[in-house]
Amino acid sequence: MTEPADSTEHLIPLAVVVTTPAYSGLGPALTYVHDRALEPGTLVRVPLGKRELLGLVWDAPGLSLEGLEPGQARPVLQVLDAIPPLNAAWRGLASFAARYYQRSLGEVALAALPPQLRDLQAEQLARKLKRLAKAADGGPKAQGRRMKEAAGADNLAPASLSLGDATTAPALSPEQAESLQRFQQTDRPALLFGTTGSGKTEVYLRAVQDLLGQDPQAQALIMVPEINLTPQLEARFRERFACWGVVSLHSGLTPAQRLDSWLQAHQGQARIVLGTRMAIFASLPRLRLIVVDEEHDPSYKSQEGARYSARDLAIYRAQLESRGQAPGHCRVLLGSATPSLESWRAAETGRYLRLDMPQRIGGGALPRLRLVNMNHQPRQCVIAPPLVEAIAERAVRGEQSMILLNRRGYAPVLACHACGWKSDCPHCSAHAVFHKIDRTLRCHHCGHSSRVPYACPDCGNLDIAPVGRGTEQLEEQLAGLLADARRADGGPIRVLRLDADSTRAKGSLEQQLGQMHEGEFDLLVGTQMIAKGHDFRRITLVAAVNPDGGLFASDYRAPERLFALLLQAAGRAGRDAEFVAAQGTAVELWVQTWYPEHPLFAALAQQDYPAFAAQQLQEREAALMPPYSFQALVRAEARTQEAAQALLNLAAQAGEPLPGRQHLTLYPAVPMAIQRVANVERAQMLIESDSRPALQAFLTAWQEQLHLARSQPEAKGVLRWAIDVDPLAI
Ligand code: ADP
Ligand code: ZN
Ligand code: ZN
Repeated sequence: MTEPADSTEHLIPLAVVVTTPAYSGLGPALTYVHDRALEPGTLVRVPLGKRELLGLVWDAPGLSLEGLEPGQARPVLQVLDAIPPLNAAWRGLASFAARYYQRSLGEVALAALPPQLRDLQAEQLARKLKRLAKAADGGPKAQGRRMKEAAGADNLAPASLSLGDATTAPALSPEQAESLQRFQQTDRPALLFGTTGSGKTEVYLRAVQDLLGQDPQAQALIMVPEINLTPQLEARFRERFACWGVVSLHSGLTPAQRLDSWLQAHQGQARIVLGTRMAIFASLPRLRLIVVDEEHDPSYKSQEGARYSARDLAIYRAQLESRGQAPGHCRVLLGSATPSLESWRAAETGRYLRLDMPQRIGGGALPRLRLVNMNHQPRQCVIAPPLVEAIAERAVRGEQSMILLNRRGYAPVLACHACGWKSDCPHCSAHAVFHKIDRTLRCHHCGHSSRVPYACPDCGNLDIAPVGRGTEQLEEQLAGLLADARRADGGPIRVLRLDADSTRAKGSLEQQLGQMHEGEFDLLVGTQMIAKGHDFRRITLVAAVNPDGGLFASDYRAPERLFALLLQAAGRAGRDAEFVAAQGTAVELWVQTWYPEHPLFAALAQQDYPAFAAQQLQEREAALMPPYSFQALVRAEARTQEAAQALLNLAAQAGEPLPGRQHLTLYPAVPMAIQRVANVERAQMLIESDSRPALQAFLTAWQEQLHLARSQPEAKGVLRWAIDVDPLAI
């Protein structure tokens, strides 16, 4: 069908953002036409080539059809106007994230929407909305419906919560009350530095309750590192705030659930969103509070696509949401017992307000550190005899213990002692891990799995043996070591292992955690997932059996992570002061180490995070490391290591004249720590600067050079490259 040449005169040009691969050459937005103007943020369906895509109308003042051939700007196919447009703050967040993390706007903005929305026709959306509205009216939340009547013409959310609805909120401790009050009086981002068990969650709950009670339309966003690991937190929010509409947003939801949650938040039916890092992009038209729990947690940084930090975006988003409003209209509360050094420093310089809660609820003491010098233990021992004894003593008294080990599987590698063969993954430069349970060798990098060979594939030796240990083996050995020990009821000790392998089945983690809480197990063995957040009541001993790797790792953030992990793990012990007092027990953190004189342990013994942070920051400042400098890491993947490195080095040369370059250091390309994964070679280049704007300006201009370098003969076989701004691991 040909269009009459003058038809465009009646049509209005629109800038529409669609998912385009980063740097596909398509500009930030494409031009389409429609017979009426559409507000920025409106969702539309548009044609692109032969496909039909979801698009977002974007701000483009002064956009015209001049210079376009008649018919070149194609018409919008559908307008999804059953829901309101995404507001200016949301759009500002998406475009900031795209700029800052060096990705295309289309990629960031569209990836921030629930995937199911991409394939939804206007009438399907309308049906979905009807169903949601019906559920909200006729569902079990009748309480909410009644309150809705007062909500005003735009039918947003329930008006107010009568105090009686806020079930079972305990009276605040003096520290909690003071923190809450200071938080409410500031318009700066606040860092709640509260020791484990100090009741940070209650402060979050109360901050939400106060705000939502005062402002009948306000919404709150609560972010947690991994929602599946903290079902308790979700339960507490749902229980207390059911009538305000609580939805969650995380990758464990089905696409349909995710869309439902998203729509409810976008339309204001849900006033509380609880989610993982992806939730930072939730559309919350009345957002006034963002809580980032365990703000130091590395999982807030995305490791794929746009490598954004949800914590950093939270700070930025609050500023955007406050624009044109009173200062502090939207607030941020970051919480941690071991804040990231970035946030700690921001509090030191006064950019953030620090709120301290050094006391545990109930006055319980933090565990005392017991270092086990492994140089003095029997050779080959995995668990020092005194530690085994201490665990047995606790079990017989009805107390629980927890052992932290950072490696799942049975053993990191199988080896042949005759010829030196090792169970390497055929596709990666890494060992395949021995899993005894199903007698497989599994690569934790690419997922490759094979049967354990009967004999050494190289020399035929039958005697191939595991080297090192993982959680499976630890569980097995403990069972042997504790065979004679008894629990309070006289039965044998029960050990629970929790790691990514034992909890693969849906719901099994919740169930197993439930049994641990019920006291069915005496000892919990697991990877770092057990160290986070859980409010165990009867654990009085926590042990880390091989933490030394974190002391000397080449990654400069390793000590920070180890300290946080050990302190978090310690925080699982002695959480119920009354129980501890009644037992008359000593709450202890045991650490087995070959380096007991390492300064990290001295700070740990004092439970002195401020001293540790001060010392780390001093080292970082002397070495000009973040937060005293800014970094970006460029990673390239190729068929050969040479090509991957060539791409980076060629682009670096070509980048010499670019803006900002004189303020930067570009290091030569090197192979990544795990150089080959799934038969792909990987190289990286570190870029450092003392100026954030210079780094940003350079990266933006440099994209082009990277793109061009790809067509050089030396870079043949390059598959992809990506920029990671503020990388967490280098
Ligand atoms: P954190 O997140 O700081 O580690 P939690 O929020 O898990 O600490 O609180 C620790 C325990 O103290 C929880 O069992 C919680 O229910 C309880 N708690 C928190 N605040 C109070 C309070 N004001 N009164 C009584 N118990 C409280
Ligand atoms: Zn061999
Ligand atoms: Zn592999």
